Amino acid sequence: LPAARDRLRVAIQKSGRLSEPARALLTSCGLSWRESRDRLFCYGESLPVDLLLVRDDDIPGLIADGVCDLGIVGRNVLAEQLLQRSNGGADKYREWRALDFGACRLDIAVPDGWEWDGPAQLRGKRIATSYPALLGAWLREQAIEAEVVPLSGSVEIAPRLGQADAICDLVSSGATLAANQLKPVLTLLKSEAVLAGPATPFSDVREELAALLLRRLDGVLRLKD
Ligand code: ATP
Ligand code: ZN
Repeated sequence: LPAARDRLRVAIQKSGRLSEPARALLTSCGLSWRESRDRLFCYGESLPVDLLLVRDDDIPGLIADGVCDLGIVGRNVLAEQLLQRSNGGADKYREWRALDFGACRLDIAVPDGWEWDGPAQLRGKRIATSYPALLGAWLREQAIEAEVVPLSGSVEIAPRLGQADAICDLVSSGATLAANQLKPVLTLLKSEAVLAGPATPFSDVREELAALLLRRLDGVLRLKD
C-alpha cells in the first residue's frame, strides 16, 4: 500500500496554455500558496493542497505513479496516455471534471487542394501526429489502414516537408492549419482542460481534502455558466 499522506498534491502545467487558467481556477477555489525558490513546488497555505509545476505530458504518469494526487491537463493528453497505458492492467486514473477552458479539437487535416470525400480517402496515406494511440484507435475503428507517423512537434509542417500526406493535430482557431495550406476535415476528440484523479478513493485524509476541493470547484464552475 502507498504511504498515507495528509496533504493533497496537484500537478499543473508549469508554463503553457493551461498554466494561468489552472492556477486562477484553484485560486478561485480559495487556495493560496507559498512559492518555493525554484518555482517547481508551491506549498499550500490556506489548505494543505500543494502544487507541482510540470510539463503537461508528465501529469498522467505522475498520477498513475502516485507521485501526485490530482492534475489539471488537456483531455487530449489524458486520453492518449490512457490508451498507451491500457495494455498494462486496470486504469489508475480518470477524468474527474471538465474545467471549461483550454478548448480545442483533435482533428484530421488534409492539404487544401484535396477534394475531401470521407475517411476512406485516408487509406494507404501517411498521417503525422503527436497522438499516435488516439489516431491508431480511430483508424482501427474505421477499418482504415494508414501509416501513422509519430512526431513530437511541428506536425503541421510535415505535409510540406514530404513526411506525411495528412496530419492529426490539435486545432483551436484553425489559423495554424490555414497558414500551412491545410484544412480540417474530421474531429476525433473534443478537448478541454480537465481535472484528473485516481480511479479509486484515497484511503486517508486526502479523500476529504479532495471532496472539499471538488465541492468548491463545482461551485466555481456553476457560477461560470
Ligand atoms: P509543455 O511544455 O507543458 O509540454 P505543450 O507545448 O505540450 O507544453 P501547450 O501548447 O501549452 O502544451 O498546450 C497545452 C494544452 O492546451 C494542450 O494539450 C491542449 O489541451 C490545450 N490547447 C488548447 N488550444 C490548443 C491549440 N490550439 N494547440 C495546442 N493545444 C491547445
Ligand atoms: Zn506538452
